Amino acid sequence: MTIVPVYNAILVPNSTVYLQSDLYKRATGRSPVTEEKVTLIVSKEARTREELTAESFYPIGLSGVITEIHPEGFIAIKTGDRMDLDEITVTNGRIDLFVSRRPETDDLDAAADKRRLEAVRGELKEVAKNFRWGQGAEIFIDQWDSLGEIASVLSPWMSCTNAERYAVLEEDSTQRRAELLEKLIYENLEMTKLNLEANNARQEDHQKIYRESAIRKQLEYLQKELDELHPENVSDIRKLEIKIEESGMNETARKEADKLLNRLKQEGQNSAETGMIYNYLDFLTGLSWKKEEARTIDLKEAERVLEEDHFGLKKVKDRIIEQIAVMNLKQEQSGSILLFVGAPGTGKTSIGQSIARALQREYVRVSLGGVRDEADIRGHRRTYIGAMPGRIMDAIQKSGVSNPVMVLDEVDKLGVSYNGDPASALLEVLDPEQNHTFTDHYMNVPYDLSDVFFICTANSTDTIPEPLLNRMEVIRFQGYTPIEKLQIAKRHLLPKAVQAVGLKPEELQVTDEALEKLIAEFTRESGVRGLKKRIDSLCRAAAVRRARGEELVAVTPENLREVLNDHPLRSRTVKENETPGIVTGLAWTSVGGEILYIETLLTKGNGKIIITGQLGDVMKESASLAVSLVKHLFPEKAEVFEQHDLHIHVPDGATPKDGPSAGVTLTTAIASLVTEKPVPSTVAMTGEVTLRGSVNPIGGLPEKLMAAQRAGVERVFIPEDNVEDLEDVAPEVLSQLTITPVKSVSEILNALGVTAEEPMLQAV
Ligand code: ADP
Repeated sequence: MTIVPVYNAILVPNSTVYLQSDLYKRATGRSPVTEEKVTLIVSKEARTREELTAESFYPIGLSGVITEIHPEGFIAIKTGDRMDLDEITVTNGRIDLFVSRRPETDDLDAAADKRRLEAVRGELKEVAKNFRWGQGAEIFIDQWDSLGEIASVLSPWMSCTNAERYAVLEEDSTQRRAELLEKLIYENLEMTKLNLEANNARQEDHQKIYRESAIRKQLEYLQKELDELHPENVSDIRKLEIKIEESGMNETARKEADKLLNRLKQEGQNSAETGMIYNYLDFLTGLSWKKEEARTIDLKEAERVLEEDHFGLKKVKDRIIEQIAVMNLKQEQSGSILLFVGAPGTGKTSIGQSIARALQREYVRVSLGGVRDEADIRGHRRTYIGAMPGRIMDAIQKSGVSNPVMVLDEVDKLGVSYNGDPASALLEVLDPEQNHTFTDHYMNVPYDLSDVFFICTANSTDTIPEPLLNRMEVIRFQGYTPIEKLQIAKRHLLPKAVQAVGLKPEELQVTDEALEKLIAEFTRESGVRGLKKRIDSLCRAAAVRRARGEELVAVTPENLREVLNDHPLRSRTVKENETPGIVTGLAWTSVGGEILYIETLLTKGNGKIIITGQLGDVMKESASLAVSLVKHLFPEKAEVFEQHDLHIHVPDGATPKDGPSAGVTLTTAIASLVTEKPVPSTVAMTGEVTLRGSVNPIGGLPEKLMAAQRAGVERVFIPEDNVEDLEDVAPEVLSQLTITPVKSVSEILNALGVTAEEPMLQAV
């Protein structure tokens, strides 16, 4: 008995199956012989004999005898029972088998099967006629006397998988097997017919298209010949024409370009419009009109790139990897529009560049700070003299592709003017429903922006119009702790700066202590922009020494000031303070968190409230609310308010929206003033206050706590509803602060001992 491993064949018991002689030879290593007994076993994958293992096979095989060897290159095998492969071993391509007969359920309705066979034959003859299988086909078809035989003959042309083919052999019920065979045969006949119809239809269309493109090619060819004969005569217009032809622009753009080109031809070189038309066509043909293929990005590699360029920022990086994974799955080139929000120098823009690198795409940056005209975004109409495309299309052209990663910087600094609202134009750029046909006024033809990966950056979301904000997914950059800054300086800023001035890495030593001092005393920021500048100037100083031939010394905390040739910043740390009426608050500014002192003072008068400081208007409400609340909490001090004027000073800095979060600080300051109980300056607080003294949540807590820790604050009161935000605060910041969540102002006042007891207040 010869064991023949087969792959991709339909094997039917008690029937006839056909195998290619070649396949037999390859499987057994010799030629087939008639009357030879065989066991056919089915391998799960296409493998050479040497690659086979015991696991390569399905558990059921088929016995048979070779009955005919056809000179056309195939053999017929009369098949018998199915076999369970009880044991199989494969050693160096040699297969040993123990098999036992596998019983089957004979429930076939013979009469129905006969009808089925007839119907299939009829259908086959029909197809044979349409496909011109040849005169003899009908005779063959009549000779095949079971569905199994037919399926086995057609098997090489069927589009089904090895597993689908094996399913026939695996079926125990003869009735269900017959149904399965019928289904396979019909499905594949239908597919064949469909292909035939599609081919016919295509042919008709093609004939027309072929003819047209043949004529075009011929024209082009003749024109080229002419150009080559007289290169000096290839006019600028002809050059433009060639560029237009080669650009691959869409139909609308092509029409517009052809129209202008014709105008150029008719009006000649000297018309007033010539320059404009040249510029326009130059711009249009400079754009990439090709749709780039969506690439599958290796997530590990993308992670590596992000890690390499930026230290920390774990949440941000995780979110970006998520987005890349989704884009991979959907085979899309863009996903949600990300809005990076955070203080300057926290890495928002530069991580955009890394994202482009991780995605292996081009990177362009558009700065929107101070943009006030709609035309800046959408371009000027060409009727204007000096009209230009908008910044978006200009950036697309610079990128040279249709799918760059585009960073739109400072979307919170968009302005509005009488020349339209740039934010609404931007909305159109970012809207996936509309941006596949974005029409720049200058271009006047649509361009598909749907493959552009947009990233926006902003310092704060306060000034971004609501509809624009809704389109984007906000990702916050919290700012760095001193420990993180040290790592960023060591790993990224210093090596880059050293390289930029042309020094070798070993030529400039900066000790960790010097960097720590630089961070603590020469910078005051959430990000690392100032730090970068300081490090750059360290490197320049070293470069100068080097150029003068002086010896280079390591930068240490001791010589730092001398090398930088600058004073440290006046540090904004908490001042010693034991005066009632002054309380440390925490503000959130567009450059990160800051501490600020709210100062209050009573002067002789008649109950007026004076508020000074930049946020006068915003604070007025908070202040009068705080005054009412203190009057309510300390009814016995009513007279104090009547006989004095209250002066409140809130220093500038905070963003207007953050105004209300000074509520608890204002209330505490006024309460401290009237009760004459000082509040230690190492205690800071933030929270919005309601008229009845409840404390409501505020924004920017992580930044505020970081500022508090920087400034040396020891204890901070925060609204209880903000407790969740503590998750976003670095552990090294939390470990240095005692945080007390509160629900009402009274809790703060009680905790600080700001209560109404004697001594009575004296006016200052
Ligand atoms: P932003 O856009 O937030 O104002 P940038 O992206 O311009 O900030 O960053 C300013 C500088 O700081 C860049 O040189 C950047 O490479 C560097 N930088 C910021 N964050 C990191 C970080 N986490 N790791 C390494 N370098 C950083």
